[in-house]
Amino acid sequence: MNKVPAIDIAGGVSIPQLGFGVFQIDPSQTAAAVRAALDIGYRHIDTAEMYGNEKEVAQGIRDAGLDRAGVSVTSKLNNGFHKPDDARRAFSKTLEALDSDYVDLFLIHWPLPTLYGGDFVSTWKVLEEFARDGRARSIGVSNFQTAHLARLAAETDTVPAVNQIEVHPYFTNEEVRAYGRDHGIVTEAWSPIAQGKVLDDPVINRIADARGKSPAQVVLRWHIQRGDVVFPKSISPDRMKSNFELFDFDLDGSEMDAISAMNKGESGRTGPNPDTFSHVPD
Ligand code: NDP
Repeated sequence: MNKVPAIDIAGGVSIPQLGFGVFQIDPSQTAAAVRAALDIGYRHIDTAEMYGNEKEVAQGIRDAGLDRAGVSVTSKLNNGFHKPDDARRAFSKTLEALDSDYVDLFLIHWPLPTLYGGDFVSTWKVLEEFARDGRARSIGVSNFQTAHLARLAAETDTVPAVNQIEVHPYFTNEEVRAYGRDHGIVTEAWSPIAQGKVLDDPVINRIADARGKSPAQVVLRWHIQRGDVVFPKSISPDRMKSNFELFDFDLDGSEMDAISAMNKGESGRTGPNPDTFSHVPD
């Protein structure tokens, strides 16, 4: 049995809890990777304007012979486009690249609190327009800290459907996850296997050996049982396949706790801290 649960998010939309991420997949390899993932059974693709491969994601969906409606696609607003008119233009380009008149979920990629005079609120209000006109079935944010989420709650009318944040055993990000849980915001865990860094850990390997599963399967199963949405990236069809086989075993409470106890706090991050991250592509 390998049925991926559907997670309800705001906007009357539901997305598969397990998807496929395409960060750092070269555009020349993206269509083939997406097609391979869809052939395996993935029905949720996570891309971004920043990744430079939205067009190739669309090609992969066509190559797999699937209807656009059969695949849940997320993209994200790039960091240089937070001003309202830039955001509107960037979103139109994203839809064009995705060869679609809608996206299932559209996110502000980073809050950039040190840029744009600290204003991500007017950017969020533009995403609300996309939700109202139906071009974004659902809207959310990425890399928002609790203070950023609280500010949106105080100054706008729409709660983000999701917050896509770094979460893995070395950085469990509990405070931001708890805020989401308390406010109806689904957590999406990016870099769910910490780009491979957690796979050699003895705790993970002990559980993997006991269960007859790979280290990546154990870590991904931990995320699934915590209720977060995940989309591991791989260019290897074998690894895509094994990363998809997560629904024929359960971790018990002590295994879940042992993995959660691997948390190193801030020093466990693989990516930048959203409070200070300010990179804008040229
Ligand atoms: P992941 O945690 O998914 O790890 C990917 C790395 O692990 C790749 O090097 C891959 O290599 C390797 N890998 C994958 N599966 C296995 C396996 N079974 N065994 C051993 N190694 C494996 O990292 P990502 O950073 O890619 O995160 C996943 C997705 O999250 C991204 O693709 C993107 O969609 C999203 N993301 C969002 C961010 C944001 O700011 N919103 C930031 C970062 C990621 P190989 O390809 O060779 O298999």
